[in-house]
Amino acid sequence: MTIISGDINKAVDILNDEDIIAIPTETVYGLAGNIYSEKAIRRIFEVKERPLYNPLIVHLHSIIQLDGIVSEIPPAAQLLADAFWPGSLTLILKKKSVIPDIITAGKDTVGVRIPNHPVALSLLRQLEFPLAAPSANPFNRISPTKSSHVENYFKDSIKMVLEGGECKNGLESTIIGFDDEEPVLLRLGSISIEEIESIVGKIKINNKAETAPDAPGMLAKHYSPQTKMYLVDDVAQVLDEHKNKKIGLLTFTDTEVDYTIAHIEVLSESGDLKEAASKLYNTLHKLDAIDLDVIIAQRLPDIGLGKSINDRLERAAK
Ligand code: AMP
Ligand code: MG
Repeated sequence: MTIISGDINKAVDILNDEDIIAIPTETVYGLAGNIYSEKAIRRIFEVKERPLYNPLIVHLHSIIQLDGIVSEIPPAAQLLADAFWPGSLTLILKKKSVIPDIITAGKDTVGVRIPNHPVALSLLRQLEFPLAAPSANPFNRISPTKSSHVENYFKDSIKMVLEGGECKNGLESTIIGFDDEEPVLLRLGSISIEEIESIVGKIKINNKAETAPDAPGMLAKHYSPQTKMYLVDDVAQVLDEHKNKKIGLLTFTDTEVDYTIAHIEVLSESGDLKEAASKLYNTLHKLDAIDLDVIIAQRLPDIGLGKSINDRLERAAK
């Protein structure tokens, strides 16, 4: 039986025992283990059915820990860390040899971040080691933003989900790598490009889908519901094409379409992109659970977090 509980001491015991648990963060729930325990890390890959070429993000509680694990901090990385940590920003930095190869998939860089969630921070402070914590979903499936999502996925294969409520941001971290000290955006996420550029100026963007990508969160198909899904600009036309099917419709704000033919989920009545981001995965989980023939999602405005949401919807619809 998986325990769902806010008992941090219990979480500490399980992690000290080289086992893994799910933890809350402000982005999504993570499947966490001691970065220095090969046993725990192998278990993360096994439970997630994650390919070993897909590196894990290392979670710290304090920037003071950074020096121990990375060998270089480009000036732009320092500016971004100062601006956004604790928060939903992952920096890809040159690693020191203490970081095991299995964490980084053999790369000479490591992804690091300080999560902005009181339960995660309090847990990390009580441990002698950082936590690797990829999203707590089976490979390619919708990320979890509630403890119940994790429980549904993993049932008895993990001992504990550390309860931390619903994830506030609800989208994975934004990932920034460095090319000769110049920041490069590798994955869109909870922090918009505009926010990043307000700190370091215009940045290069390299988040296109590949089969063996630099940031495997960028695989073409990812974050997917099991129901067939389409991402469209013109909902009315597509609804017409699927007339005789059981349709789930996912829209950004309220819509004028004929309510009788679709189960409708609205991400933000008031058109707030932050609210839409925070609800996205929970809404996909809901739609996926109601036995529809097809989910039709409407593309969001291509600005700010709208870009990150569209990125996830595109991969979900592959
Ligand atoms: P998840 O925690 O499931 O959102 O996945 C973590 C993502 O971080 C992976 O999909 C990678 O794209 C990215 N990542 C972690 N470490 C590195 C690294 N050293 N280089 C590039 N990307 C990384
Ligand atoms: Mg993931």
